[in-house]
Amino acid sequence: MTDVRKQSRSQAVLAPARSRSPVEKGEVRGFTVHHTAGPATQTPAQIQSYHFSIGWSDVGYARLVVDHGSYAVIVEGRGYGAELAHALGHNRSHLGVAVIGTYDNGLPSVHALAAVRQCHAEAESWAGRTLPVTGHRDLVSTGCPGDALYAWATGGMDLDEAAEGDEELYGLSEGDSGERVEGLQTTLRHAGFGDMLGDYGPRGDGVDGDYGSGTTEAVLAARQYVGSGATSGARVSAIAAAQIRRAVARREAERAVAGLDLDEGDC
Ligand SMILES: [Zn+2]
Repeated sequence: MTDVRKQSRSQAVLAPARSRSPVEKGEVRGFTVHHTAGPATQTPAQIQSYHFSIGWSDVGYARLVVDHGSYAVIVEGRGYGAELAHALGHNRSHLGVAVIGTYDNGLPSVHALAAVRQCHAEAESWAGRTLPVTGHRDLVSTGCPGDALYAWATGGMDLDEAAEGDEELYGLSEGDSGERVEGLQTTLRHAGFGDMLGDYGPRGDGVDGDYGSGTTEAVLAARQYVGSGATSGARVSAIAAAQIRRAVARREAERAVAGLDLDEGDC
């Protein structure tokens, strides 16, 4: 179901490390997830040259995960037996892996998430013990690895949950059309955002199967309704899909409460 590939340093066109300080397995106590907080299109070589430019001896992380959407690639970085440069004061005790991109409001693909899990399993196997998962923000003051990726990584790294949106909503974006978009629009109506969809479609209820500006607005409104800091509804990421479902559940709960009020009757 998930497609995770691997690249060696040379396949990823990384330059040799300028120096390397070995770490004993016994020193390692944890596993740390990062995002690179830049565009997902950055290459490992670009990140390495940035790290060289700030005086580091190599790319800072043990592994880099590149998300290509339909598959992900684990790129060998400093590896699991070397002092890293990923979290000040924790570079020998924690193995750090970074997903290239910014994951405050949306998760990377399920393939990239599977790659992170695989890195964690490999790190534990290398260390010969359980390595609790932390986010960079648990170690030092930073927003890294982004709200969405942090929640996923420290919430059990569940792939089923992340992929749940796949079936219906996940992956849709503005400009798409068809049955899955109709499903999204129906869900948005259930979440109470039907008005934003306009009166398009055969029933005049806004369910027309075209992901246009109204659907974009409604996706954003549904996300914000459950507290998301999202600023765009033009794409349904895995976390957006989960938030839209939560919006439906919350709306249903509100309707139930309103129904109780009516039963009490003050008219
Ligand atoms: Zn970080």
